[in-house]
Amino acid sequence: MSDLLERLRGRGWRMTSQRRVVAEVLDGEHVHLTADEVHARAVARLPEISRATVYNTLGEMVSLGEVLEVSTDGRAKRYDPNARHAHQHLICSGCGSIRDVHPQGDLIAALPAAERFGYVISAAEVTYRGLCPSCSQA
Ligand SMILES: [Zn+2]
Ligand SMILES: [Zn+2]
Repeated sequence: MSDLLERLRGRGWRMTSQRRVVAEVLDGEHVHLTADEVHARAVARLPEISRATVYNTLGEMVSLGEVLEVSTDGRAKRYDPNARHAHQHLICSGCGSIRDVHPQGDLIAALPAAERFGYVISAAEVTYRGLCPSCSQA
């Protein structure tokens, strides 16, 4: 389990029932939900929660740095609670499921000096693509 609720509390974030539901929906491993998916799951727990509240709450969690925005293939942005541990993504080209993965080695160090063009590099992202076990059997 991720510790999103604990992290948000630790940041002194005022925990209303609506914010708590959004944080609970996002809690866990390999969670990468669109805002609409977060809203649908939040409504199941707290029927009166509005889409605007969910969107605002997600935006605040991203501003705090406790949730990441992940963009894949120009599809809707996804929200990822695994913000404290650097990771990359493994995406199924069939169903779009996403796993957090940890390639070995340092992605930044892997770029040769001759290809840095004088840039001071601060981050690197890699997306692995393939078919998940269910899709590769279809
Ligand atoms: Zn799949
Ligand atoms: Zn992730």
